[in-house]
Amino acid sequence: MNAPRKPTREIQIGGVAIGGGRPLAVQSMCATATTDIGATLAQLRQLQRAGADIIRLAVDNKKDALALAELRAQCDAALSADLQENYRLAKMLAPHVDKIRYNPGHLYHHEKSKPWRDKVAELADIAARHDCALRVGVNAGSVDPAKLAARGANDDSVAPMVESAVEHSDHLESIGFTRFCVSLKDSDPRKVIDACRRFAEARPHVPQHLGVTEAGMPPEGVEKTRIAFEQLLSRGIGDTVRVSLTVPNEEKHLEISAARDIIKDIAAGRVRSVVRFNENSLNLISCPSCSRVENRAFVELAQQVRERTRHAEQHALTIAVMGCRVNGPGETDDADLGLWCGPNYVNLKKRGEKIGAFKYDQILDALDAELRAMIAAGETG
Ligand code: SF4
Repeated sequence: MNAPRKPTREIQIGGVAIGGGRPLAVQSMCATATTDIGATLAQLRQLQRAGADIIRLAVDNKKDALALAELRAQCDAALSADLQENYRLAKMLAPHVDKIRYNPGHLYHHEKSKPWRDKVAELADIAARHDCALRVGVNAGSVDPAKLAARGANDDSVAPMVESAVEHSDHLESIGFTRFCVSLKDSDPRKVIDACRRFAEARPHVPQHLGVTEAGMPPEGVEKTRIAFEQLLSRGIGDTVRVSLTVPNEEKHLEISAARDIIKDIAAGRVRSVVRFNENSLNLISCPSCSRVENRAFVELAQQVRERTRHAEQHALTIAVMGCRVNGPGETDDADLGLWCGPNYVNLKKRGEKIGAFKYDQILDALDAELRAMIAAGETG
């Protein structure tokens, strides 16, 4: 890259080093069920062929953790395990991966009386014993509840994310664990830029993993991510990246090629100096799906939502489509209309309030009726 990279601490993730001026590492995540060894191996190989440096897998239970042992035996990629609520699975999966991602906002769900610092110390100890790196993965939709409560009337939604990332970084360093990176993700690229810049100012030595979460389908999802990466990478911020796209499993490799294209353009100076956000148009956000997706019809549903809502393209509304109950309820709270998928029903919310649960063949009509009612009532913007 032509842009000077800010010097961060180098950390090793399997055979890949990030930070310390190393080339940007490009990541993706498997969307197959982690326990489906055949499908997951096929997707791992698809992503490796496309040039993925690090590949993440969701691990939610003991069966997922056991599947990792088999996947590890058959795949030499640098593997990252994505922990959600059950941080105690770390000791089972650590022998089979190179990095563990935890979300500070999800450390509260189990062993509620145990302080988060003790849980992080346990994670760091497990990581150190098994030669793993950690990622502190802060997400706007699941920020540490204590940080949100402290926010009060303050409308700075980025601050709790940055504070959480700083607090966890400081804690990890205070207990002697330095092999970690941090991510601060939001579905709004402006907030990603703001959060990552603020964190880089606060803790310039900590390597950052960049990404726009729930960026959606291509080409819009690529465009949103490009906006964030241009503003960050051209300022020397970022050590590893992921472009999150809602695409069918057989097209997951598009996440890698999109990231490489963006990096190449930025390196060649093809960066816009003035970024225009079209705030008077429909904003469709959707998760990239992963092992946790509750019904494999999710990607098709997201595509159908886009087609069905084209009539509203000139209205300033946000529609969120999420694949599961782990992140769906929280990540749809800030949308004007939010859908999160269960195995048989899709939950529909309007500005954080649940409207109802609809069968997969009924949800598009229900969504469209709400959308048209909001437009007719002038509830946009
Ligand atoms: S919302 Fe659920 S299915 Fe979608 S990427 Fe997040 S965890 Fe995976």
